Amino acid sequence: MKKQFAVIGLGRFGGSICKSLMNEGMDVLAIDQDEEKVNEFASIATQAVIADSTDEKALKSLGIRNFDHVVVAIGDNIQASILTTLILDEMKVKHITVKAQNDYHETVLNRIGAHEIVHPERDMGIRIAHNVVSDNVLDY
Ligand code: ATP
Repeated sequence: MKKQFAVIGLGRFGGSICKSLMNEGMDVLAIDQDEEKVNEFASIATQAVIADSTDEKALKSLGIRNFDHVVVAIGDNIQASILTTLILDEMKVKHITVKAQNDYHETVLNRIGAHEIVHPERDMGIRIAHNVVSDNVLDY
C-alpha cells in the first residue's frame, strides 16, 4: 500500500518536498494556512487544504494521526512550528520530520518528539562546500 504523507507549510522547502513525493508516486496531503499557496498546490498534491496547523481540532478533523509521515515545513514562525510538532507528537503520528531554523529550535524540537530534524540551508551549504572541496582535490 502507498505511504500516506502530509506536508504542512508550502513555502520553497515544503513545496519542493510535496512535488518530489508526488513525483515518487506517493499520496500527499498539502496543508497551508495561506489560501493562495493551497490553490497553487491543488493541482499538484493528492489533496490540498487550508488549515492552521496550530489548531488541534483542524488537524484532528484532517485525520492527521493516520498519516505515515508528516513533514512540518514552517520556517519563520518558530512558535507555530513548535506547537504543531507538539500536537502531532500528542496525536502519536508515526513519523514527524521538522525543518529547524536554528540550533535552539532544534533543541526544543528534539525534546517535544520530532523524529527527524532538518536544516535545509545549513545542510545544503555543508554539501556544496564538500563538493567544491572534492572537485578541487580531483583537479590536483
Ligand atoms: P521557505 O524557505 O521554505 O520558503 P520559510 O522558511 O520562508 O519557507 P515560511 O514562509 O515562514 O517559511 O513558512 C512556509 C509556509 O508555512 C508558508 O506558506 C506559511 O503560510 C505556512 N505556515 C506558517 N504557519 C502556518 C500554520 N500555523 N499553519 C499552516 N501553515 C503555516
